[in-house]
Amino acid sequence: MAWWLTRTLAALLAVVGGALVGALLGRLAGHVVAGLALGGLLSSLALLLRDAWRGQALMDWLRGPLTAPAPADAGFWGELGYRIERALHLREQGTRDQRDQLAQFLSAIEASPNGVLLLDGADQIDWCNSVAAEHFGLDPQRDLRQRVTNLVRMPAFVAYLQGGQFEEGVSFSGPLGRTMLSVLVRPYGDGQKLVLSQDITERERADAMRRDFVANVSHEIRTPLTVLAGFVETLVRLPLSEPERQRVLVLMQQQADRMQALVADLLTLARIEGSPRPAVDRWVALPELLQQVGAEARALSAGRHAIEIEGGDDVEIGGSQAELHSAVANLLNNAVRYTPEGGRIALRWRWRPEGGGEIAVSDSGIGIAREHLPRLTERFYRVDGSRSRDTGGTGLGLSIVKHVAQRHGGEIEIQSEPGKGSTFRLALPALRLRRRQPAGPGTVTTAVDPG
Ligand code: ADP
Repeated sequence: MAWWLTRTLAALLAVVGGALVGALLGRLAGHVVAGLALGGLLSSLALLLRDAWRGQALMDWLRGPLTAPAPADAGFWGELGYRIERALHLREQGTRDQRDQLAQFLSAIEASPNGVLLLDGADQIDWCNSVAAEHFGLDPQRDLRQRVTNLVRMPAFVAYLQGGQFEEGVSFSGPLGRTMLSVLVRPYGDGQKLVLSQDITERERADAMRRDFVANVSHEIRTPLTVLAGFVETLVRLPLSEPERQRVLVLMQQQADRMQALVADLLTLARIEGSPRPAVDRWVALPELLQQVGAEARALSAGRHAIEIEGGDDVEIGGSQAELHSAVANLLNNAVRYTPEGGRIALRWRWRPEGGGEIAVSDSGIGIAREHLPRLTERFYRVDGSRSRDTGGTGLGLSIVKHVAQRHGGEIEIQSEPGKGSTFRLALPALRLRRRQPAGPGTVTTAVDPG
C-alpha cells in the first residue's frame, strides 16, 4: 500500500477512535452526538499539534549546522528528515570524491618533470606546480590570482604571451640567465591558458658541444688534408729532383700520421663513450701495464729523457686493460712531448692513506699556467696549439684519460707549475684495487684492504 495512504488511514483511525471514545463518554453524560463531535475534534487537534511539533523539530535541525543526525521520527516529518539527510550525505560524498580526484590530478601534475602553469582569461595565475614556480621565479601560494606578466621578469615570455601566437613554442633564458627554458602555451576553456615549461639547458649544452665537436674535428682533419693535397699537386705538376721528392714524401707522411692519430683517438673516445662501464672483477696486473707503457715511452723519447718506474709491484686494478693502457700511455706520451731533452719523467704507483690509490706521471717539463688547468681535459683544448701539433698531439689525449678515470670510478688530478713540470694523477677507488698475493700453491690472488 502507498505510504501516504497508510499514513492517512492511520490518522483517520485515530480521529475515528477519538470520536468513538468521545461518544462513549458522551453517552455516560447523555450527550452521545456532542461526545462524538468533541472526541473527533480533540483527537484531530492532538494529531495537528503532534504534527506541528515534529515539523518544528525538523525545521530546527534544518536551520542548524546539519552535523547531528535528523530528528528520529516514524511519521511524515521523520521520513522527510531522513530523505533530506540522505540527499545531503550523497552530495557531500560526491563533493568529497571530486575533491579527492582533483587533489590526485594536481599531485600527478605536481610530479611532472615539466612546469605547468594555469592562467585565467586575464592572465592571472590560477595554479602552478613547483617546477613552473622555479622556472618562472614564482611563489606558488603568494602569487596566486596575480597577473603573471607583472611577476615574470622575462621579456621574451611576456611578449610571447601577449602576442597570442601559440602555434609554436618559444625558448629563452631563465630568470637568472643560467638556464634555458622552452615554453609552450595552449589556450583552453573560456580564454584560459595552459603554460608548459621545460628546462632545456642540458639539451642546449649537449647540442652546442656536438656542434663544436663536429666543427673541431672538421678543422683538425681539413688542415693536414689541405697540406697533403698541396703536396700531391706539387708532385704531379713539378718535375722534382729525387732529394726534393723524398723530402715532400716525408712531409706527406707526417700529415698522414697526424690524421691517423686523430682518427685513432676519435675511435678510442667513441668506443669508450659507447660501451658499458668496465667490469670490476676483470683484474689487470699493474706491473705489466707500467712496464709496457714505460717501454713505449722510452721508445718515443729515444733516450732524450730519464724515465723511471716505481711501485705497484703487487697491485691489480679491476677494469679494462685496453682503457687503462690508453690512459697511462697518453699521460706518459704527454710527459715525453712536453719535457725538453734531458728532463726527468717518473711513473709511480701509490696507495693513498685516505683510501684507494693513484698512478702518477710526473715530469720536469714546460709546465702549464694555472688558468689553463680547469679546461685541460676538454676535447681539443691545447695550451699551445702549434707545439701540440708539431709533437703529434691531437688535443684528445687528456679527455680520453678523464673518461677512463671516470669509468673506473676515479678521477684525474693535475698539478703543474710553468717552467718546473707537471704531475698528472689517475686516482682510483679502493673498490677497483687489490693486492696480488705472491704466487703459491693453490692461491693466485686475494682481495685485501689497501693501505
Ligand atoms: P695534446 O694532444 O695536445 O697533447 P692532450 O689532451 O693530451 O692533447 O693535452 C691537452 C693540452 O694539455 C696539451 O695541448 C698541452 O698543452 C697540455 N699538456 C698536457 N700534458 C702536459 C704536460 N705533461 N706538460 C705540459 N703541458 C701538458
